[in-house]
This record gives sequence, structure tokens and C-alpha cells, in this order.
Amino acid sequence: MDIPLLDLKTQYHNIKSEIDKAIESVLDSGQFILGPQVKRLEESIAAYIKASYAIGVGNGTDALVIALRACGIGPGHEVITAPFTFFASAESVSAVGAKPVFVDIDPKTFNIDAAKIEKAITSKTRAIIAVHLFGQTADMESIMDIAKKHDLLVIEDACQAMGAEYMGKKAGSLGHVACFSFFPTKNLGTYGDGGIIVTSDAQIEQKARMLRAHGSTKKYYHEMIGYNSRLDELHAAILNVKLKYLDQWNEKRRRNAAIYDKLLKECGVVTPYVAPYAKHIYHQYVIQVERRDELAATLKAKGIASAVYYPLPLHLQKAYKDLGYREGDMPYAEAACKKVLALPMYPELEPEQIEYVAEAIKDFVSER
Ligand SMILES: *Cc1c(COP(=O)(O)O)cnc(C)c1O
Repeated sequence: MDIPLLDLKTQYHNIKSEIDKAIESVLDSGQFILGPQVKRLEESIAAYIKASYAIGVGNGTDALVIALRACGIGPGHEVITAPFTFFASAESVSAVGAKPVFVDIDPKTFNIDAAKIEKAITSKTRAIIAVHLFGQTADMESIMDIAKKHDLLVIEDACQAMGAEYMGKKAGSLGHVACFSFFPTKNLGTYGDGGIIVTSDAQIEQKARMLRAHGSTKKYYHEMIGYNSRLDELHAAILNVKLKYLDQWNEKRRRNAAIYDKLLKECGVVTPYVAPYAKHIYHQYVIQVERRDELAATLKAKGIASAVYYPLPLHLQKAYKDLGYREGDMPYAEAACKKVLALPMYPELEPEQIEYVAEAIKDFVSER
């Protein structure tokens, strides 16, 4: 058996006629930037998340950069985030001229440990970027309480969490503003780059809308220095098709995770922990295991793909050497980097394939 980490081709073939028709209709319309497809997607996503506004942008990283700018964050400010995430969660902070400040993760959820946030707050702190890693929301009630107490803004990095929930509320409706990515491998992805900002704050919405189009609302009149970062009509049309399937795809991810959980129980690997407040959508199914690299090699030899998200925490990245962090500063993030392994996870994954993966893992564990 050959089992990829995810299977975008099968997904496309399952909805090919609808996707092809949507692409064709955009080509026929001759309108490619900020047209009816983007407007429709923005309205649908806002309604789906139960937020007031959504603003389509070029990618998830730009969504974070523009959200930070729309929140008034820039040079001289500090923004708290987790060190165990994709680089963009912190890179966006640096890109607007502010300083990322890392707070270690909860080793069970992989998300920022809310109990450690207050110690990292200084007079320069303006915001917290709460990353919902692997499809499970951060501990948002605790984070919002801290933010309220210290007058901070909360930006959700929900790039891996479209459809995930916290106490019955959708990721993206929990903080002051949220950012999503439509990168092809995300659980709602397009066939290229794309992203969206979601908020219920009218001021943030207006500013973000301006910033994505060169700081202007009226063509050739510019109120601020902005960006050229818009979601294309083609991508919006593709996403308008895919959004209809999102809930059923997420349910299939959850079904697949439950099968993994059951089969991997009692074979010595740590399966994903689900917090009582969370509805996890398993953007990634991540186990923790000793001799992780050996396991990955063994799986590969049996035709099973796996991946390490992430091998190096952000506070130890070369790009951040000037921040002065050292090994040992974020022990849980560092430990996670050594033990995590993402297994094949996508809606189209078949139970027999999961059994094959679980069997291979069991063999590896029992052989040592
Ligand atoms: C993918 C991702 C991003 C960036 O999204 P792009 O669309 O690739 O720019 C940011 N944060 C997290 C947690 C992500 O997974």
C-alpha cells in the first residue's frame, strides 16, 4: 500500500465537475480581482464562523500581517505567541516591526499555556496571537480573560482550524480578529495561495480592507501604506465550491482520528489529546513517540508517508537569534519538536489504510 500524507488529487476528482465549472465561469466573466466570487466567499465565511466581516487576502501570512496592522501594532510593541507553530505566526509580528515574545506550550494540547502568559506581559505588550495548532483551539476563555485584564488584543491564528470549535463556538469568532489560510494543504485549501481575515470589529474590518488594497478605499487615493494582497476570483470560486463540503470533510477527519485513537491505544505512542472545551478537526493527526525518526523511516519503507511539524521551535530559529533565546527556555516546545509525528490524515483516507498504518506502528513499538 502507498499512503500519502494527504491526497488532494482524489479530493479534486470527487468534485471535479463543480470545480471545473466554477473555474470556467470566472474565465468567462473576465473579472479576476475583487469581484462577485470574493464577495460571496467573504459573506459565506463570515456567516459560517458567525462573525460580522471577512476580508479575503493573498495568503495566511498576509492575513496575520494585515490583522496586526489593522490592530495598530508596529515598532516598539511586543506580541505574545507560542514557539511551537509555523514560522509565520511570529514572522508576521516581525514583519510589522514589532517583537515576538514566546510563551511555552501546554505539552498536552501543543497550544500556548495560558497560565504562563501573564509573566511575559510588559508595558510594551499589545496583543496575543493565539494559534489553534493542528485543528484544536487554544484555551480561549483564559486567554481572553488575561487580554481583558491587561487591555490586549487577541488575534487568532486559525490557519489550521477552519471549522474547529471552542465550547460550541467556531474558531475565528473567539478573539478580536482571526486569520485563516487557504494554502492547498489546509483543511479548506485552494489550488494556490489564499487567506482570509475574520472579525466582528467594524474598525478592524475597515482598516484591513484598506490595507489589502494599497491603503485605499477609492482608487488612486491612499490613506495609508498598505499591501497588494487580495484573494483572486479564481481561488474564491474554487473555495465557494469547497466550503459546502467542509463540514462533511471535517467529520470524516474526526472519524478517521477516532479509528487511529482506537487502534493506537495501548501500543505506547501518545495519541492527540482533546481538551474538554474543544471540537478538534484534525488538520493534522499528530502522535508523540520516542525514536520518532526511526519510526518515520520504518513507515516510509512500508509506503506510509509521515511528517514532522515542527522540527525546530521558533525561539531557536536562526532568524530569531537576535531575540536572545537559548535551548532550555521553552522546554515543552523543545520536547515536542523531538517527539511529534504527523500521520496520514485526510477525509478520503479509508479505514483499511488507517489499519495498515496502525499495524506498522504497532510492529515498530513491539520490536524494540
Ligand atoms: C499555514 C499557516 C500560516 C500561513 O499561511 P500561508 O497561507 O501559508 O501564508 C500561518 N500560521 C499557521 C499556524 C499556519 O499553519
